[in-house]
Amino acid sequence: MLRLHHGASALRFARPRPRFGRSARAVTPTKAGLLDSFRNVSKRSQNGAKSATGTTSEVDVAALERAVKLETAPVRQGEKNEANTKRRAVMAGNWKLNPKTAADAKTLAALVGAARRDVDADVDVFVCPPAPFLADVVRVLEGSGVAVGCQNIYWKDSGAFTGEMTAEMAKSVGCTHVLVGHSERRELFGETDEHTRLKTRKAIDCGMTAVLCIGETKTEYEAGQARRVCSRQLEAALEGVQADELSQVIVAYEPVWAIGTGLTATPAIAQSVHAGIRQWFREKYGDGAASKIRIQYGGSVKPETVDELMQAPDVDGCLVGGASLVAEQFGRIFNFDPTPEGPRKLWAEEVVPCGNQLGESPIWSEERQTLYWVDAPAGTLFSWDLKSAPVRTNFGEVLGCVGLRSGGTLILGLESGLHAFDPATKKLKLLSEFEPGLNTRPNDGRVDRFGNFVIGSYNNAHRVDAAPIGGLWRLRAKGQELEEILDYKFRCSNCICFTKSGTTMFFCDTPTRKIYQFDYDPRVGPMNRRLLYELPSSVPGGPDGAQCDDDGNLWAAISGAGKVIRITPEGKVNLEIELPVKQPTSVTIGGPMLDTVFITTRAENGRNDAGSLFACRVDDTRGIPEPEYADSTSLANAETLTPGLTRAEQSAAKSKFCSDCGVAFASKTARFCANCGARRS
Ligand code: PEP
Repeated sequence: MLRLHHGASALRFARPRPRFGRSARAVTPTKAGLLDSFRNVSKRSQNGAKSATGTTSEVDVAALERAVKLETAPVRQGEKNEANTKRRAVMAGNWKLNPKTAADAKTLAALVGAARRDVDADVDVFVCPPAPFLADVVRVLEGSGVAVGCQNIYWKDSGAFTGEMTAEMAKSVGCTHVLVGHSERRELFGETDEHTRLKTRKAIDCGMTAVLCIGETKTEYEAGQARRVCSRQLEAALEGVQADELSQVIVAYEPVWAIGTGLTATPAIAQSVHAGIRQWFREKYGDGAASKIRIQYGGSVKPETVDELMQAPDVDGCLVGGASLVAEQFGRIFNFDPTPEGPRKLWAEEVVPCGNQLGESPIWSEERQTLYWVDAPAGTLFSWDLKSAPVRTNFGEVLGCVGLRSGGTLILGLESGLHAFDPATKKLKLLSEFEPGLNTRPNDGRVDRFGNFVIGSYNNAHRVDAAPIGGLWRLRAKGQELEEILDYKFRCSNCICFTKSGTTMFFCDTPTRKIYQFDYDPRVGPMNRRLLYELPSSVPGGPDGAQCDDDGNLWAAISGAGKVIRITPEGKVNLEIELPVKQPTSVTIGGPMLDTVFITTRAENGRNDAGSLFACRVDDTRGIPEPEYADSTSLANAETLTPGLTRAEQSAAKSKFCSDCGVAFASKTARFCANCGARRS
């Protein structure tokens, strides 16, 4: 609905203070050597080479491409800050088939012009009225700082083309911009990629700026094709366009499902596609062009959503439909606040499209330069050296967590108990059973800073019966007794991690949404519980896995809210990492410089990047090298997993009966016959 406010005095902005350039932060230096190694591995893999570890894991070229991005992503984030001075924000209003009369158009234009004069914002603004109003609107907006664009042009210069308007005609009345490839033109008027190319070419040749609209439909979005569709549309529309002509191109990413529907892509979803679009420009035109091209977001942008959208490092402006018809709203949009109150924001990038059902327990080994994580229900362990494709090992039963263990081995929280595992020999040995007889399974686990393994449990039925039956346990390195170390039970243990000194432990029973800290004594365990942080009621979901950094901050994945938060020792959130997926599940800090936050996620309907591993380099943070579980149990006589067979398949293949005396073994994991004492083969 068109609402006109008469007179500039009617313009009241929710945020009256003028806005200047965005604040600059230091650019994180890159490590070219690391990038090169990623690139080399990527090339190798594309040539069909096996993974460096020589395991049965498939080489996942896409994962390697993502790994390259791990190197470049922080540069882009830094670039954005640096580019705040380079990439000026650009806000556009698409009036579509509005307003009704030339008089209304002039009034709306006058109000927009007044709003623009009112604010000293470092932003380009233009509006795109219907063709009959162009000349009037240009006159009204003269000297206001608001430019005028048209909504369409034809690519011919003259001739029998009834109903069309040439670029020259639009330019001759003062138009500087033209929308091309808008989804409504594509959908309702049958415009093709080829038409979009011809119009883009014509706009450039005529000295105008082409606002090239691209974006995926709802079906394409749900199939996870957003980036692919955008790349295809860019490829077609910009065929033949040279790098030095890109100053006459603005890209408008408009997910079709968000146009005029009231649905706005979250800033993290927009950021993830914008980063992909910028990557396309990088690959096609090089770094310089990519860092300069301006990319607008369009789709139900409102005064309430603009500030957060504009914080995303690759969102350079907005193309606004409905809200541009209300001068007050459009004014608030182009007077956006680039540094709104609240924690600093960063955006994670998908680095391994591993399709986890429930990724969990990421842990970085400083010594092995390897990241481990699990897909819990699938019972799969992932080991990734950040170069080759991740190596997958399947255990055929729920695998709740993984911790480091001495001698290059690991400790695993499998449903059948806590096991030592050697990835090199595939030897697996039971160290302790875990809550036998209860409908629970191992969940979060971490090695404490004294070499013991602390692990919490998960009531498999907690969503139905909400019964607090799980316990927090510690497997001592010496003697290997499993002792219960918390004096209360809970439903779903999470957040277990330790500060650098090891004398503070964090813990959360997820459904309570409260994260506690405890004094931690290597002999006694956690004591003196204090509330560190409670998730505000405005935030959905609950705290999931967490990790501590070198400064004593706690990094917690907030599953359901699509973010990881950094909580200071005083309980304040001072940084948020946004993800395009809703359910991050756990977090750790690793990488060669211990400055990269790795985030596991859970699968969701309608997003094929849900379940991927995400990463975000953080310039002001260092992780703490993770300790190892320090028992001395030998794996020499342990069972060996046969590559290609899950553990369940191997157990099934094993006889239930003693080959010496024929009597059944006492349990699935019994190593000796209780009847005759023979070792199980
Ligand atoms: C548009 O038409 O380009 C647009 C983004 O519309 P709206 O803001 O109304 O969704």
